[in-house]
Amino acid sequence: MNTDKANNLVIYNTLSRRKEAFEPLHPPLVGMYVCGPTVYSDIHLGNCRTFISFDLIYRYLLHLGYKVRYVRNITDAGHLEGDRDEGEDKFAKKAKLEQLEPMEIVQKYTIGFHEVLALFNTLPPSIEPTATGHILEQIEMIKKILEAGYAYEVNGTVYFDVEKYSRGNDYGTLTNRKLEDLMEGTRELDGQDEKRGRLDFALWIKAKPETLMQWPSPWGWGFPGWHIECSAMSTKYLGTTFDIHGGGMDLQATHHTNEIAQSQACNHTEPVKYWVHTNMLTVNGARMSKTAGNGFLPKELFTGNHPLLERGYTPMTVRFFMAQSHYRSTLDFSNEALQAAEKGYKKLMESLSALEKIVPSDATSVNIDELEQSCYAAMNDDFNSPTLIAHLFEGVRIINSALDKKETLTVADLEKLKKIMHTFIFEVLGLVDETKQMAGSEVIEGLMQLIIDIRQSARDNKDWGTSDKIRDALKEAGVTLKDTKEGVEWRL
Ligand code: AMP
Ligand code: ZN
Repeated sequence: MNTDKANNLVIYNTLSRRKEAFEPLHPPLVGMYVCGPTVYSDIHLGNCRTFISFDLIYRYLLHLGYKVRYVRNITDAGHLEGDRDEGEDKFAKKAKLEQLEPMEIVQKYTIGFHEVLALFNTLPPSIEPTATGHILEQIEMIKKILEAGYAYEVNGTVYFDVEKYSRGNDYGTLTNRKLEDLMEGTRELDGQDEKRGRLDFALWIKAKPETLMQWPSPWGWGFPGWHIECSAMSTKYLGTTFDIHGGGMDLQATHHTNEIAQSQACNHTEPVKYWVHTNMLTVNGARMSKTAGNGFLPKELFTGNHPLLERGYTPMTVRFFMAQSHYRSTLDFSNEALQAAEKGYKKLMESLSALEKIVPSDATSVNIDELEQSCYAAMNDDFNSPTLIAHLFEGVRIINSALDKKETLTVADLEKLKKIMHTFIFEVLGLVDETKQMAGSEVIEGLMQLIIDIRQSARDNKDWGTSDKIRDALKEAGVTLKDTKEGVEWRL
């Protein structure tokens, strides 16, 4: 455990609306729960932003030496359209549309989700529980909430009684809003409604005969409401009070507010110490979402096959683009921003190759310890990745100056600089060198050497036509050749 560094970490807590010193309940253990995807369709880049943001947080906590139990659920049941207690089940709707079993839909999009996140080099969570795999736990929790008097059953459906809960608890604690204001934002009840209060939400929903996914319960056949799954699974794997609960900001007002109410009503404890919310990825200022139709799929982004895209961008360009903004700021998608990120990412990767060529001196003319402290200070300030990147570019400046012999580094400081750059770029920011990934393939390496040798023979024979043709064709394919003292180098 890197106690020194870990002691200085502050995290913005949505609950207190300020940055707080991070003090886990049972150090060095950290319990972290992040609301996962609803797997009835492909995830878009906005979803990816949230999961990549939590990957950064996870990586940094691990780097500090914490043992993190990272739980990220898969929502594979109980997601209705409308105001989430009504309308058609999204899984059933998609199953009909694609003529598949609901569980085939779940499997298909769960695999897709994993593939996409692997491309972005995110670390898998420690536990990835599914809602359908925890129906019993959800039923047990609902039973306890009923026993505690904070829920009521109407005709096979169980509702959480927000008004009753609000008598002894602050229902709007997470958003700092009063009950009256929250009421104003919801529709008035009419004769059709079973629930008693406008803010009441379903814990268990009675199934219709045609409902595809349904389970037996003390209230008859039905399926769980959306919010109860996260309360049941976080309690099961992390306990009644745990350290960090996260998700996108869009989940704060309803999903997470209801999670707090459910857990309080059932376990009589504040469930979460630090609530962490990531901000939205937007397109021309509007939130990227499944329903708005402005959601790029990651594969569209990689191929450039989308009307809003001028061309394709690699996963690491996209990951770097995301790290360039703080997780609590909105991030607006644009081709210009991605092209700038591509340049920045390449510059960072090139500097790592350059780092290997620096010849050490007897003395050091720059302060490497200060650079290291600045990198930690940035990440300790609520995981400020854009500031970290600014410091890493100071590292790039030092590398280039040392190559030009304008700055000098001793053997020890050169090693320290390598460690700082590698640790923060790869381990913490989670980037990988895509050129090396490709170049790592022996076949590509062999073919490139063959091409370089043919070009060299052409040049030896003063056959400039062939030599230029090879260089141009490679350029067209995105490969650049560079003549150096050590020979010809190539990069993607
Ligand atoms: P969903 O699959 O819709 O339940 O969303 C999965 C996660 O993605 C949730 O944590 C959402 O808050 C998050 N999310 C949805 N849209 C965006 C967006 N445009 N930008 C960032 N995160 C998002
Ligand atoms: Zn959740």
